[in-house]
Amino acid sequence: MAALQRRAIRIRGQVQGVGFRPFVYRLATQRGLSGFVRNDGAGVEIEAQGSPSALDDFLQALRQPPALARIDALSVSERVPDPNVAEPFAIVASGGGATTAEITPDSAICPSCLAELLDPRDRRYRYPFINCTDCGPRYTITAALPYDRPNTSMAGFALCPDCAREYRDPGDRRFHAQPNACPICGPHLDFRDAVARPLAAGDVIALASERLLQGEILAIKGLGGFHLVCDARNSAAVARLRLRKRRDAKPFAVMAANVPSLLAWVEVGEAERRLLESPQRPIVLLRQRPETERRLPGLAPGLAHLGLMLPYTPLHYLLFHEAAGRPAGVAWLEQPQPLLLVMTSANPGGEPLVIGEAEAARRLVGIADGFVGHDRAILARCDDSVLTESVFLRRARGYTPQAIRLPCAGPSVLALGGFLKTTVCLTRDDRAYLSPHIGSLDNAETCRALEEAVEHLQHILRIAPERIACDLHPDFPSGRLAARYAAEQDVPCIAVQHHHAHIAAVAAEHGLCEPVLGLALDGVGLGADGGIWGGELLKVDGARFERLGHLRPLPLPGGDRAAREPWRLAAAVLHELGRADDIGRRFGAKADLIRQMLERRIKTPATSSAGRLFDAAAALLGVRASSDYEGQAAMELEALAHRHGPATPLADAFHLRDDGILDLFPLLAWLSEGVAKAVGAACFHATLALALSAWLDRAGETSGIRKVALGGGCFLNRLLTAQLRTHLEQTGWQVFTARQAPPNDGGLSLGQAWIAMQIKI
Ligand code: ZN
Ligand code: ZN
Ligand code: FE
Repeated sequence: MAALQRRAIRIRGQVQGVGFRPFVYRLATQRGLSGFVRNDGAGVEIEAQGSPSALDDFLQALRQPPALARIDALSVSERVPDPNVAEPFAIVASGGGATTAEITPDSAICPSCLAELLDPRDRRYRYPFINCTDCGPRYTITAALPYDRPNTSMAGFALCPDCAREYRDPGDRRFHAQPNACPICGPHLDFRDAVARPLAAGDVIALASERLLQGEILAIKGLGGFHLVCDARNSAAVARLRLRKRRDAKPFAVMAANVPSLLAWVEVGEAERRLLESPQRPIVLLRQRPETERRLPGLAPGLAHLGLMLPYTPLHYLLFHEAAGRPAGVAWLEQPQPLLLVMTSANPGGEPLVIGEAEAARRLVGIADGFVGHDRAILARCDDSVLTESVFLRRARGYTPQAIRLPCAGPSVLALGGFLKTTVCLTRDDRAYLSPHIGSLDNAETCRALEEAVEHLQHILRIAPERIACDLHPDFPSGRLAARYAAEQDVPCIAVQHHHAHIAAVAAEHGLCEPVLGLALDGVGLGADGGIWGGELLKVDGARFERLGHLRPLPLPGGDRAAREPWRLAAAVLHELGRADDIGRRFGAKADLIRQMLERRIKTPATSSAGRLFDAAAALLGVRASSDYEGQAAMELEALAHRHGPATPLADAFHLRDDGILDLFPLLAWLSEGVAKAVGAACFHATLALALSAWLDRAGETSGIRKVALGGGCFLNRLLTAQLRTHLEQTGWQVFTARQAPPNDGGLSLGQAWIAMQIKI
């Protein structure tokens, strides 16, 4: 018999709270090894003793971890074998040490739990808090590391004997499942009426289901916050929800029981199906079928795509189960189900998502007709994530707080983002931890949520940042908070130019350390020269950047107001084109004042913003004169172009000027001449893509660089991104886009952090 060996194995990554230790235990006992496994602050520590071949085999098997686990690093070292060790392999208590282990994101209910949930003979039949080591809440119920029950919002629920047995049995799916619970010992649902008074509801699911089918709007507590929910097929209910939420046109997300139920309404590709069904269960933007908007009015008015998601909590499944007449088993989930539910974040007036019962009562009375809550507290606010097939619009539930790997390690940075769609980012070594989507800092509640997010992230990761980063803009609440933290903690505060940060975010996730060109197409951000930037061609080299060019500036009559009123930009273009007389003719008497502002240059700053270029194009075509939400005009323009199909670019509708400026005014002039909307929208996209690629080609020749990073909110436009990528790849460019963080301002903090890490102080 070969001599015994003993090996110490250290594993880093997402290995706590995911059933990793029982997995190790099973592998070790199957191979007759002795030793132990335990969690510590850095991950998992194993010592295993046995024959060399059994140990090799064990190491091999460790590399296929359980569903929610992810191994980032595995190191092995030899130990002196212990000749006396004959006792079986054991799972031992958590070790100490500084905490660097990661908290796992929340995960949708797994197939095993779903089968039990719908099995009338199971002791957890229809129990909405069923979970196991492969699924359930994590980040949103965790107050601190290590991830053990006393550090979660399950702390107050003592396990009953049956649950305790599962919890202690290494062979059980619920071994050390911290949120383990059952109807005897766990949390329960409650129903409150329209003024948030408790109602003796009997069966809460049955009552909620009945109310929804009657057209009521319910506030339902989910994993990371409350949703406002109504029957998406009931257009009166949808209209009432819009009215009460004061949300005129912004699209609503919809939940369906399964993918087959979606096929009548939207197109679902293979990659999209995988995303929809993934344990992260994001909202996926799917192309609407031609009749969908007419048959389901009010969900995503005027847009090409509709946001859809599948159920992810047991409670969601139970609502569909109830509507289907409580069939036993899971076979019914293979069939299309008619029920569609609007599931929109309960964040009245653009304020943060509601997470607590008392808060729901305070903020949602008057909006909801009833409340479905429960006694398992949400400790971290976390919105639903929103993605297209490959790009994040919002990164939150299911992904937070999973780290994004940086090209190299550096000082710890806390970056506070910008103003719109804010997130914060905290780094340690070569990891960047992005907070969930926080929102726009235009109200006091969201500013408070920003501080809470910083505190929660710092607390669960136990990172004391060595540097603070923020936007260059002096008046953002995030910048003021950055200055305060820097002063309190006596660390440097680094202000980062907005578009530099957009490009750096893309460079960071792709590990680009060499000089690259950056094309930032965005709303607006403060430029290094004090101007309002947003359509920038940059050369980025780590912590430095150079502005090689920008879009020809557009005057913004009325400043920020012009962003909500695209017609003002159309007026500005006509003025620049020497056709000021057309302004009144097209936009009526209200335009006189704007015309005077343009002529006298009063309150009319100029901007190179690409977002405003889209607004101008939309208004010149008559697509949209004023917007209900940011990006609406551009999204409708894109929807029209999608509907039209491919178009030939107008090769002479732009100028590449010697000073690096890309002038698209000839294209705007053409759009203003009474072109049909869909044709104009399609040609606008095609010509813009061609012009941008010609612009980059020229900068590529001068600089010798053939790698380009695309950043900024305009790259949520799929048509533009796809067409530009095609042009660039044909001419030999390597194109990098935002994949792990949103290209919009939701990814800004990542870029800020990566720049601040690289600055030499
Ligand atoms: Zn499960
Ligand atoms: Zn129990
Ligand atoms: Fe931006």
